[in-house]
Amino acid sequence: KKLGIALVGLGNYATNQLAPALLQTNLCKLTGIVTGSSEKAQMWSKQYNIPQKNIYNYQNFDEIRNNPDIDIVYVVLPNSMHAEFTIRAAKAGKHVICEKPMAMNVQECKDMIAACNAAKVQLSVGYRLYFEPHHLEMKRLGTEKVYGEVKMIESSLGFSMANPKVWRLNKALGGGGAIMDLGVYCIQGARRTLGELPTAVSAQGFIMDKTIFKDIYEGMTFQMNFPSGAISNSTTTYSSYVDRLHATTGWRWFSLSPSYNAIGTAGQFFDGERKDMNFKVLDFQQIKQMDGFAESIINKQKPEASGEEGMIDLKIIEAIKQSAESGRTVKIEW
Ligand code: NAD
Repeated sequence: KKLGIALVGLGNYATNQLAPALLQTNLCKLTGIVTGSSEKAQMWSKQYNIPQKNIYNYQNFDEIRNNPDIDIVYVVLPNSMHAEFTIRAAKAGKHVICEKPMAMNVQECKDMIAACNAAKVQLSVGYRLYFEPHHLEMKRLGTEKVYGEVKMIESSLGFSMANPKVWRLNKALGGGGAIMDLGVYCIQGARRTLGELPTAVSAQGFIMDKTIFKDIYEGMTFQMNFPSGAISNSTTTYSSYVDRLHATTGWRWFSLSPSYNAIGTAGQFFDGERKDMNFKVLDFQQIKQMDGFAESIINKQKPEASGEEGMIDLKIIEAIKQSAESGRTVKIEW
């Protein structure tokens, strides 16, 4: 029997990526929804054949505890709501996937991990790229030093999001704009290609349009120092499109561009000659991500994209924010 997933929050990502991906998963399927909109509830019920008994709102959500059709709760809400709904899902005895960034800060991540441990349920972060072939190849080439030791990484992600009405630009809901939303990708790309955790960060915040970006940075640039001596340089921005992960070992390099978006990834490497990475571009990266989590539940193994992985990135983001505010390099202890 496939594990049943309930999506919490039926916005863009749930509608356009997760629900269609769940039509193609092998080990899990969409069996429930949690929404504040009765119109959406009716539409989804029809489209995905979801019985009324498996439809919840944010108030009666905790009753999901009594529903055997639902094994996994997938939290796809604004960032400020991740911790609350993850903890409520754990208390209802359900395994949880929580979207990125895992939470607003490290303390929330700790509380979420503790709640899942106490309830003996598994917790995963919606890190689809942990299962994506180009990204797994970057990790292999870097950590196995196939082209030698990686010295420099460039890892950046940005798109245009100059709309003050969206929750992403609201500090209380998004947690601080591009660095929260996109920073997790730049960080995970660099640290996973190196197989190391950064020990220091320096960051700079910038605002180009002060009429829109009032209490959050429009973007940030930041540098991370790694124990091997490697350095990474990143830009996260809501003002223009950039999407790339580039690792260099000297004169040889391997690279993804686009790298992080969900629509497609393309890779190249240079070893005297420029060659393409020949991996299939997945229609929905989330299929492997959700089946991967279902597999770890079935086999009672720690998930690849665990809560601890999500917390690592929040810890680095906290140091980045601190550095941008103080204008100093911030050390990170692990
Ligand atoms: P969205 O704005 O399209 O959807 C958010 C949903 O939350 C909506 O259905 C909205 O009605 C609901 N909601 C409930 N309470 C709300 C409130 N107080 N304010 C605003 N909305 C509220 O956003 P999205 O793009 O679907 O993002 C949702 C989550 O998924 C975010 O955490 C985001 O970072 C993450 N996400 C991840 C990926 C990925 O590739 N892994 C891609 C996109 C989004």
